Amino acid sequence: MVAAPLHLPELGADASREYRLGIMGGTFDPIHYGHLVTAEQAREALDLDLVLFMPAGRPAFKLDEDVSDAEDRYAMTILATAANSAFDASRFEIDREGVTYTIDTLRALREYYPDNVKLFFITGADAILDLATWHDAEGMAKLATFIAATRPGYDIDQARARLTNSGVAFDVRYIEIPALAISSTNIRERVSRGKSVRYLTSESVIGYIRKNGLYNRHVIERVDGAQAH
Ligand code: NAP
Repeated sequence: MVAAPLHLPELGADASREYRLGIMGGTFDPIHYGHLVTAEQAREALDLDLVLFMPAGRPAFKLDEDVSDAEDRYAMTILATAANSAFDASRFEIDREGVTYTIDTLRALREYYPDNVKLFFITGADAILDLATWHDAEGMAKLATFIAATRPGYDIDQARARLTNSGVAFDVRYIEIPALAISSTNIRERVSRGKSVRYLTSESVIGYIRKNGLYNRHVIERVDGAQAH
């Protein structure tokens, strides 16, 4: 194993068994219960030993969008995942210079871990739909199995057909996650309008959003005078 300053959790020590590492990729702006349920159900369904949450540094495909500071997104990820011993959070992508490409992360993890550690990249099905257009798609297909989290009603057959037609031999598993009715976009909008986001993400994340004025530069008072969560 290389002694790189990646600060990655140790895995793979027992050469006689296989380890399964989930990499939960996302912008996490902010992280919410939909993400946490996705990670937990992927862990259970695919018998993962650990799910490593990997907030994107400068997400590819979002270069012209406003994305919150990487340190804030990472801090919220730590807060939301802290209580689960099968979850961990990584600074790997936020510490990298330049645009975040998943292939770079997968290559680094593949080099870091021994061969008995299998990689599973978990993210939203809408992102997976475009997998074939990501940087070095062929390379990614060789390095990991992909887990696509879908919302109820998602057309999996169409997604499968699109990936099959791409000609790249991806191994993609789909998991339906009803809790993905929650979205980061909706949370940001609700915060900016002074609406409650309670029960959409953890109290610790809500506290962080409020304390740091994220998604809203002013603390908004509801009409009844109570502070919005
Ligand atoms: P996105 O386009 O913002 O998200 C697409 C959809 O998937 C949204 O509905 C989003 O909901 C959901 N989603 C995102 N991450 C999720 C997760 N981990 N679990 C469940 N649902 C999730 O996607 P993104 O955040 O930019 O990218 C997702 C991942 O793909 C990141 O790791 C990114 O680096 C990678 N990616 C790589 C490339 C490349 O290498 N060229 C290109 C695109 C994406 P929320 O908004 O509620 O999260």
